Amino acid sequence: MSESEQEEKTIWQMVNEKFECDHEVVHLRLRGGNQYVYQCDTCGKATTSALAYDKLSSIERMAATPFDRTIQDNWYAARKDYHKALVEMRSRKMSINYADWRRGHEWQRQRQRVMQRDGMICQACNENLATEVHHLTYKYHPHTPDYFLQSVCRACHERITARDKGES
Ligand SMILES: [Zn+2]
Ligand SMILES: [Zn+2]
Repeated sequence: MSESEQEEKTIWQMVNEKFECDHEVVHLRLRGGNQYVYQCDTCGKATTSALAYDKLSSIERMAATPFDRTIQDNWYAARKDYHKALVEMRSRKMSINYADWRRGHEWQRQRQRVMQRDGMICQACNENLATEVHHLTYKYHPHTPDYFLQSVCRACHERITARDKGES
């Protein structure tokens, strides 16, 4: 499992833990006009299957309110918002990590090595002096093998990056 898959799993675990409902408060509800079920007031799930009519007293049946689907809709909306917030938090954390990595020793050394390998010439236009190093993939980041790295000039790099973004 890759690091990002691992993180994605952790995020879902956090979401599931926060949105684990123990159905503490339930009420008898009438669903679809003829089914009596207990519905959780917190998550909106039906906590029982349809109850036999004669298992309920007339007082219980009279007290039953209509099954409320908005509870579950709201619960899922809140769950989705929480997931989104965690994903945003992670991507902020990742961009901080990325900035640190770019400044790091190892990358600076590898960058020099790749530029030297390419004779300081842009591998895209084969003309300009290379000033930066392009990643063919970030799959192995931060330990990208040299063969996935190409020296490029600023103009080519911008063009390639724009094209890559357009594709994604
Ligand atoms: Zn519940
Ligand atoms: Zn170029």
